[in-house]
Amino acid sequence: MDISARVQSLLRSHPVVDVHSDYAIELYRAAEEGRDDALHAEHLPRLREGGVSMEVLTVGGDFDIDVLKLWDERLVRNIVDRTLQQIDRHEDFHLVRDAADLDRAASRAGTHFMLALEGIRCIEDIAALRMLHARGLRAVILTHNERNGAADGCGEPNPGGLSNFGRAVVEELLATRMVLDLVHLSDPSFFDALDHYTLPPMVSHSNARALCAHRRNLTDEQIRLIGERHGVIGLNFLGMFIDDDRTRATPDRLADHAVHIAELIGPQALALGPDYADYYIDAMKKWLTRDNLPSDLLTFVHGAETVAQLPVVVEALARRGFTDEELAGILGGNALRLYRDVFTA
Ligand SMILES: [Zn+2]
Repeated sequence: MDISARVQSLLRSHPVVDVHSDYAIELYRAAEEGRDDALHAEHLPRLREGGVSMEVLTVGGDFDIDVLKLWDERLVRNIVDRTLQQIDRHEDFHLVRDAADLDRAASRAGTHFMLALEGIRCIEDIAALRMLHARGLRAVILTHNERNGAADGCGEPNPGGLSNFGRAVVEELLATRMVLDLVHLSDPSFFDALDHYTLPPMVSHSNARALCAHRRNLTDEQIRLIGERHGVIGLNFLGMFIDDDRTRATPDRLADHAVHIAELIGPQALALGPDYADYYIDAMKKWLTRDNLPSDLLTFVHGAETVAQLPVVVEALARRGFTDEELAGILGGNALRLYRDVFTA
């Protein structure tokens, strides 16, 4: 069987999980413009084309998209509400809240969504976190690149570890069996968080710093620790996290990261966290201009710039010798295993 047919067959017979997507933010923007079924009408066809059967959706965080300040608690509540409405409207859409939902997701029956937060600035106290959990939140990234009340992001000079509040947040994640996602943390906060979170950790959209020196990528020491703790690392498809020269961000170069991480801790620690932004690239471009950043900063891996083109990357992985079983794990099995470990601990 040629590689393309092999990958298509894998994509149709196994759960495929995108472990980090900002689509809920675009869904909210579309709903505000009157397109109140965008998740199904506009996004689902692209998910199907890419083979994706489950997507983790960011419903808020410590950053802004155009005029949306995603740390605003009221805005986050509204994004959650809009997202749940659009999931509820369709029988083949499901929210992932517990192990039974993961069983359904593993069988590829319908399309599954899990809610995540990318920075906890919208959380003033633990009660607010519990409210979001009650509404379906299941994964939490503590910071974006900056410092907040919980911890220091990777963009802070002389960063430290978690604050007392950050430790209380981690305690609550353990108590409610939520996924802790260590992406975006400064190195000291990364290690501090792992000292307190005792369940398998996720790093949803980061690559290997040994191959691309960006501060958002993981050192070999960090990768080894994730392996020891039975965690999972989602490969990021953004060019700046793939190669120091982002114009060289080919699928094969991204596959180098997968091979490197697999050599350190095994292929069962890999997942797909593409971090796509094509659906609101207009807003991102404004942000680049505002911050005097290069206009081509947000180029994605060549040939797989949207979720519909996910198979291009999977083919690059297949060419590097991963077996069908290993590829099935990378596509979604590994992420589902981690979510199950956390939910049922
Ligand atoms: Zn991010």
